[in-house]
Amino acid sequence: MKIKSAEFVVSNSKVDLCPNSALPEYAFIGRSNVGKSSLINMLTGRKALAKTSAKPGKTQLINHFLINKNWHLVDLPGYGYAQVSKSTKKVFQKFITTYFEKRTQMVCAFVLIDSRHKPQAIDMEFMQWLGEHAIPFSIIFTKADKLKPKALQKNIENYKTEMLEFWEEMPEYFISSAATGTGKDEVLDYIENINQQ
Ligand code: GDP
Repeated sequence: MKIKSAEFVVSNSKVDLCPNSALPEYAFIGRSNVGKSSLINMLTGRKALAKTSAKPGKTQLINHFLINKNWHLVDLPGYGYAQVSKSTKKVFQKFITTYFEKRTQMVCAFVLIDSRHKPQAIDMEFMQWLGEHAIPFSIIFTKADKLKPKALQKNIENYKTEMLEFWEEMPEYFISSAATGTGKDEVLDYIENINQQ
């Protein structure tokens, strides 16, 4: 898919205020600092569509972007800040779960995972929650340029092994780098294919 247009639509702290639109939407979510903003900018070919490197703990907003006038890219807040209190975490969980429960136009959630790290409980639990609620998702392993090809392959294999303890099969996954553009065509073509079905 070629990106012909990418426009910021709205930022919300309330799921009820998200655009009242039936356009298919694709959500991007992951732990803080996973590289979500960089990935969104890389996919859309815009330098600063999503803001990068904002401080963890920033206001938790759902950002909608209209892509090619026919689908929404949704930037969800990063989860798993070490610094936030338990009560903030609870509010945050509610916010995220409300989004997934209410937005029936959400076609696929891309769960971002830093390719350098071992599987983390918070990501595993989040994907399990998505599975239990029958919410379709795919994984994007980010920052692939930071590893040598062999180390990257090994990490992905480890991840698969751990996923297969909970899942019958490995969900669809992509490998990306905002620095080199790896994964851009694959992710965009995947979205295009679903949109055409
Ligand atoms: P977010 O908090 O998930 O939105 O993460 P950001 O996009 O702000 O990225 C966090 C940090 O990781 C920044 O310093 C980025 O420059 C860096 N980063 C993000 N993606 C990549 C990547 O693919 N490769 C490299 N080398 N650095 C990245």
